[in-house]
Amino acid sequence: MKCSQCGSEDTKVLESRLANEGRNIRRRRACRFCDYRFTTHEKEESFVFHVKKKAGHVEPYLREKALRSIQIACQKRPIKTEQLDFVVAYLEKQIQDLGERVVTSRQLGDLIMERLHELDLVAYVRFASVYKDFKDPNEFYTTLKALARQEKEDRV
Ligand SMILES: [Zn+2]
Repeated sequence: MKCSQCGSEDTKVLESRLANEGRNIRRRRACRFCDYRFTTHEKEESFVFHVKKKAGHVEPYLREKALRSIQIACQKRPIKTEQLDFVVAYLEKQIQDLGERVVTSRQLGDLIMERLHELDLVAYVRFASVYKDFKDPNEFYTTLKALARQEKEDRV
């Protein structure tokens, strides 16, 4: 990102904040050359990375696809569309902070689960059942039990 004062390419990010319901990233930047400070609004489109799938192939990250998998897990749950957008925005921000151009589908899934866990436990379990690809009902049951235990501890 160029400094709008002196044109230097060497700027550092002071602060990043999600804006426009997570569709934009608002950044405070400072020029390392002339110390000029300015704000940029960066669109998510400018943010590109790839996902390495379990089978080993790499494909471009698609916001639509990530959103879709979250939507399916959240069907008929009391969750607003904005909240879904925020899950995706959170995901993208975490990856952006990592600074990686390629992440594994596992990293991606874990980040989504982290968020869903806070948002809605039913959605979380649904997502986990698809994402973790439970082979038998016991695995599913174990996850539910772990959740129930956690719930109890949280209440104490
Ligand atoms: Zn400058």
